[in-house]
Amino acid sequence: MTGTLILPDWLIDVPGSPPKQGWGVRVVGDVVDAVGPNDELRRAFPGDELWVAEGQALAPGFVDAHTHLYGLLAHGIPPPSSPSASASASSPGWSFLSDFWWPLVEDRLDHEMICAATDLNLTQMVRGGVTGFYDCTEAPNALPGCLAAQAEVVAARGIRGILSFEATERVSKTNGQLGLAENLGFIRKCQNVARSGDRPQQGEGNTQYATRNTLVSGLMCFHTTFTCSAEFIRQAFEWAEAEGALVHMHAAESRFEPEYTLKRFGVRTFEYYDRLGVAGPTMQASQCVQITPAEIEIIARRGVRVTHMPLSNCEVGGGIAPVPDLLAAGATVGLGSDGYITDMFEIMRSAFLIHKAYRQDTATMPANLVWRLATEGGARAVGLEKVGRLTPGWQADLQLIDAGFPTPATAGNLYDQLLLYRSRSHVRAVMVAGQVRVRDGVVLGVDEAALRARVHRAAERLWHGG
Ligand SMILES: [Zn+2]
Repeated sequence: MTGTLILPDWLIDVPGSPPKQGWGVRVVGDVVDAVGPNDELRRAFPGDELWVAEGQALAPGFVDAHTHLYGLLAHGIPPPSSPSASASASSPGWSFLSDFWWPLVEDRLDHEMICAATDLNLTQMVRGGVTGFYDCTEAPNALPGCLAAQAEVVAARGIRGILSFEATERVSKTNGQLGLAENLGFIRKCQNVARSGDRPQQGEGNTQYATRNTLVSGLMCFHTTFTCSAEFIRQAFEWAEAEGALVHMHAAESRFEPEYTLKRFGVRTFEYYDRLGVAGPTMQASQCVQITPAEIEIIARRGVRVTHMPLSNCEVGGGIAPVPDLLAAGATVGLGSDGYITDMFEIMRSAFLIHKAYRQDTATMPANLVWRLATEGGARAVGLEKVGRLTPGWQADLQLIDAGFPTPATAGNLYDQLLLYRSRSHVRAVMVAGQVRVRDGVVLGVDEAALRARVHRAAERLWHGG
């Protein structure tokens, strides 16, 4: 079987480990088949297609381990509806949700708005080297069927996506059940597709996405301890366990939630989850900002998976997550955009810099570690298997980045150079599961102007109604 030899100047095969100069990879089908020095690969596989990437670095694609694709529609949403106009100093996390995000964004979303934002967002993400993501749609009035509609878009763009609906009882108990059922139905549909080996399935609605590939999957998701009852939370975990799926929730994003659980239940957020018996390796907790050493110990001991969103934590005034402590305790951590600023280079820069300033320690969060969080760490945090490294048998989810720096690149400075001085626009090519999605900096098969016009129309309706 012939393959493609990608021959760059530099290879990051195992994120965190030293980069290899003059090494490349062989891609066969949807996986990496071989890794080695470029000249050895050429000799070993003379019949392969050659992709010479001179002046470029080859790295695993980014995994945006937590996003809200619909969030694109709220970019620039006009004041006085913005959180800055209504934020309360006493509970910034609460006022962001109750005065702004719920009534003016989430509650107004419909399928067309979600799909329009998903399509443009995916285009921008893959343009910037993102090959996989986990998305959380919060739209209580878009039930049912919003995940199936969104999955069509994701599959058409050929990106590896995990979709979920953020079930909540804040609207009503009935609406909460609809949300959990939306996730369960979607998880089952995706699993059926994976088991059927890509065969078209007849007689079922909304399975077109499933016939194209198995890049799309689902997981269970609910909002928080302050919008969901204990019974509801246990139900989410029980349903997920039966399907072998993870369960996502936003956890301790600001001091509001731990104050709420302390007042209501006498314990902090993760102590409450542990008491419920749900803290464990199927728990996918995003944010984890306002947590104590005792909660970090619970997270590490129970194997809870964590996602870190340094920029959106700033946006909502939530604080600075104790990520270095979580990592030191052995927790699985990935990086995410939270649907805010979605350029993963900027997110890496913020993860690299914020903790140094906060801890007054230049040694914390080194570039190679941050690169690992943005790739393999994110994949592990959201349960993507064999994703995030470029070694034989792992998925060919990769990016080529312009490495023509003004100063010499070395094995000792490449992670820093790429993290500090590169952005989305420096990504030259992207492959997802062996398929080229970006070449020469252009997303293939996409009319971006048309996608942007569709989002403009959707944003007009979201902001002003109609
Ligand atoms: Zn979020």
